[in-house]
Amino acid sequence: MRKKIVAGNWKMNNDLNESISLINEIKEILVDRDDVKVIVAPPFTSLDSVSQLLRGTEIGLSAQNMCYEDSGAFTGAVSAKMLKSVGCEYVILGHSERRTLFGETNGDVNKKIKKAISESLIPIFCVGETLEEREAGKMKKVIKKQIKKGLKGISEEDFSGAIVAYEPVWAIGTGKTATPEQAQEVHAFIRNLLKELYSETLAENTTIQYGGSVKPENASELIGQKDIDGALVGGACLKADSFANIVKNA
Ligand code: PEP
Repeated sequence: MRKKIVAGNWKMNNDLNESISLINEIKEILVDRDDVKVIVAPPFTSLDSVSQLLRGTEIGLSAQNMCYEDSGAFTGAVSAKMLKSVGCEYVILGHSERRTLFGETNGDVNKKIKKAISESLIPIFCVGETLEEREAGKMKKVIKKQIKKGLKGISEEDFSGAIVAYEPVWAIGTGKTATPEQAQEVHAFIRNLLKELYSETLAENTTIQYGGSVKPENASELIGQKDIDGALVGGACLKADSFANIVKNA
């Protein structure tokens, strides 16, 4: 059975002191569950300190992005090895904010996924359509392209264990959530694509999270859908109690 995974993407929020306070609060109120894996993704500057505070807990640590190069003249970039060195196990790749605000292409995302896997980081590979694409009836085409290009040249063995996050761009940070039926439809579509690209076994074993205005009030209905295996949470993970309640309701 697939384990549910709830990840909190802190985005560009929380300086070092604020990050320490938030992770301490989360640790205090989060009730450990065997069936739900919890991950936090603080900004780069807080990873090391949060990592130390997570020692001895079951909470996983993720970065929000990384570079596909190993080292060198890439000002402002952070490598997979650097993330590993501060205790990251996961990395969010292809988030729609990276794609739309920073011009990341499917090709960039593909190189990053390959690099993450080669350094034993687990990618949280994000895909999703814009409202315009959905309204134009292009949703499935867009997602298929993101999945196919993002996973180009990556073997089944290498991709097994990776996480996919379906995040409709129109639902991120907008307060508009996909209905459980809308989300389930796309999750099933993604699972089927994974089956076509790899195998039924990989498709059935891959965790596909939903992201887009997940809150404690809508988490259980969304995560209760057959192909929805957890949530990637933005805004609602910045308060320990709402994040803990999403985990509780998962
Ligand atoms: C996200 O950024 O991954 C996200 C889902 O944000 P929010 O929950 O705020 O919509």
